[in-house]
Amino acid sequence: MPPVPPLGMDAASLAEDFHHHYELTLGRDCRRPVYAYDLYQALALCLRDRLVERWKATLALSEAPDTRCAYYLSMEFLMGRALGNAALNLDLTETAAAVLRDHGLQLEALAEAEHDAGLGNGGLGRLAACFLDSCATLQLPVVGYGLRYEYGMFRQHIVDGEQVEEPDHWLRDGNPWELERPERARRVQFGGRCEFHRDARGRQHVRWIDSHDVLAIPYDTPVPGYRNTTVNTLRLWKAAATDEFDFNEFNAGRYSESVAAKNAAENITTVLYPNDASENGKELRLRQQYFLASASLQDVLARWRDNHGSDFSRFAELNCFQLNDTHPSCAVAELMRLLIDEHQLEWDQAWTITTGTMAYTNHTLLPEALERWPVELFKRLLPRLLDIIYEINARFLSQVAERWPGDAERLRRMSLIEEGDWPQVRMAYLAIVGSFSVNGVAALHSQLLQQGLFNDFYQLWPQRFNNKTNGVTQRRWLAGCNPALSGLITATIGAGWVRNLSQLQQLRAYGDDSEFQQRWHRVRQENKRRLAELVQAECAVTFDSAALFDVQVKRIHEYKRQLLNALHIVHLYDRIKRGAVDDWTPRCVLIGGKAAPGYFIAKRIIKFINNIAAVVNADAAVGDRLKVAFLPNYRVSTMETICAGTDLSAQISTAGKEASGTGNMKFMMNGAVTIGTLDGANVEILEEVGEDNFFLFGLTAAGVEAARQGYDPQALIAADADLSRVMQRLRDGEFDSGEAGIFDPLIAAITSPHDPWMVAADFRAFVDAQVCAAAAYRDRARWTRMSIMNSAASGRFSTDRTMEEYNRDIWRLRSMGDVDGL
Ligand SMILES: *Cc1c(COP(=O)(O)O)cnc(C)c1O
Repeated sequence: MPPVPPLGMDAASLAEDFHHHYELTLGRDCRRPVYAYDLYQALALCLRDRLVERWKATLALSEAPDTRCAYYLSMEFLMGRALGNAALNLDLTETAAAVLRDHGLQLEALAEAEHDAGLGNGGLGRLAACFLDSCATLQLPVVGYGLRYEYGMFRQHIVDGEQVEEPDHWLRDGNPWELERPERARRVQFGGRCEFHRDARGRQHVRWIDSHDVLAIPYDTPVPGYRNTTVNTLRLWKAAATDEFDFNEFNAGRYSESVAAKNAAENITTVLYPNDASENGKELRLRQQYFLASASLQDVLARWRDNHGSDFSRFAELNCFQLNDTHPSCAVAELMRLLIDEHQLEWDQAWTITTGTMAYTNHTLLPEALERWPVELFKRLLPRLLDIIYEINARFLSQVAERWPGDAERLRRMSLIEEGDWPQVRMAYLAIVGSFSVNGVAALHSQLLQQGLFNDFYQLWPQRFNNKTNGVTQRRWLAGCNPALSGLITATIGAGWVRNLSQLQQLRAYGDDSEFQQRWHRVRQENKRRLAELVQAECAVTFDSAALFDVQVKRIHEYKRQLLNALHIVHLYDRIKRGAVDDWTPRCVLIGGKAAPGYFIAKRIIKFINNIAAVVNADAAVGDRLKVAFLPNYRVSTMETICAGTDLSAQISTAGKEASGTGNMKFMMNGAVTIGTLDGANVEILEEVGEDNFFLFGLTAAGVEAARQGYDPQALIAADADLSRVMQRLRDGEFDSGEAGIFDPLIAAITSPHDPWMVAADFRAFVDAQVCAAAAYRDRARWTRMSIMNSAASGRFSTDRTMEEYNRDIWRLRSMGDVDGL
């Protein structure tokens, strides 16, 4: 068959294909009622066709036998919507909009019909999505491997101020972006037992038998680079029952049991665990993790066998696995198993390959988020893997004993197995021992890992540790979500920033240019109006775009300190009620985010914020001085509107607890000014933008640790008249909405000398910084200058820079370049 000629990129070709897909692929009738989702799908298919051409060309390059590839293993990919991004990267936004306009349709309305691909909790999953965009734009051969959850992140409703979760069946209407690849299905084993035997030459062989097997079916999604011919792959695995499993049960006359067993197998990829930065101790979660690791490694090894046969001598030279946190860290033991049991390598050779191909990224300093799995569970579910982990541990500990003779305490600390009544496998340690690179995600975070959490390992292998500060892709988070500001920037400094964000520095020259300031201000006002519309529609609260838009959106977690933000709102309310309103800056506070369904305090914080909003917004004495809204169902697509319309970005975690943060970067890029602590990437944001353009407050990471000794929040409250009045209003039940005592757990947390998050310790500094921010906002020229300076200084926070660093220090891939004729 001759190849199909390239598809046209002009309006006429697009219009013709649009009709074709609407009428034939989707089988819709133009004379019948029209549904937005069908129109969206028809356009998505037009774009997908054009991506598929480039995708095949990229595969020919990336799957060539001598191409070194990296694989990003992640339990989460928080992709959001794909349509706008595909159109942007293909340079078809204008053309598509024009074609639709001819049909009396609006591109924005069609784009709104797409369900977010919410296959992640928050920052970690969104980072994976931004990485894929940058890798495709830099033309690096990188494949994303993840799970195709039937249900993504739950939808959040607010009922009587409380979070109510609803399943997110995001695939119900079909997903035009994915292609099923049944011919590349893999078999993943669970349970059973190991059988050992020696061959004639005395080599031991292991057979994993009597296992319950599950099929892994890959679904591929194209990941387009920005205006190049690269389209990389995101491969997501769906679990399916094996045929013979059904058949055996069925023949034994147990039809119902056979269907139940089929369900159990397919359950593995039913639902995303909705816990952000905390432990998931459930068996199904370990099944998911192993399923991802095993299917992905088998996929890579199968392709290796096709190209190189049984010669693994160059495997580490041509392959690299990046583990997104410890979630996929079973991969260390699984690669050993596959190389030894399935491909007959010796232990030492397999270990050299494994430790030459694995790289691990840590995402958290919270000890409760460090995954450990009960040895008992491992033994039952993954018996062969546990054997291998024991062997890795024995060899590792003998290395430690050699370096530190007689240091039994150190051996106990560093062991991959935590001893005790219920021994556990320490997954982070398995990842460190099995990897050639261990990185944190911001300078402060990496430093704290080396000095704290992983210090023993840092002493043993200092050269293994490195930092890769996170970023976000400016294609989605500025060019795509903020066309008005992008247009102004491009009109001023050219379009080079879309590929090279450091070019935003050129905006500095315009910081004091009053004509440019006015244009900047007008664009931002328009974005604030769009955000106000969203708030009106979702919360029925009216935001006036003349007011300061003060925003904190992110997962609800104690360490992120939404509670500190809430106390500040109560303080503002208290000022209004006592008439202390001189030099008042009207302010609209927006808070949004999901709480893990089992996280009691986080859910109570949501209720608290909603109740404060109800009281403040209904109080005639407040008027336009203060508005408060809790935005339900915070997700990628809403963040696209939020970050473009925010003035003040609240990044107020307890110092030393937020690994990096990436929301902070999206806001900065779009011209918001940060009010923040010296935590995570805030440190580097401050470094770039300078103290004049950042409202810094609060204890440092070292200060937090020092202040823990003798921390006395009651004394702090007593010594601060503002905080005393705020706490009195809480104790008086002003926000209880008739449910007496409902916020006692929050009062108890704030007033406890053991409050790990030190909310009371930073209250004064936060309020003072907010006063500075409010004063700065009243001076429009000053604020606009700060806004411009923030955007101008955000160049370092592109994932293009992050990916270049991963590639330089860890992956060492060659850029693929463009393909002719496309
Ligand atoms: C960027 C982003 C996050 C991460 O936000 P942080 O403030 O860094 O915690 C979480 N969720 C969504 C939907 C995002 O877009």
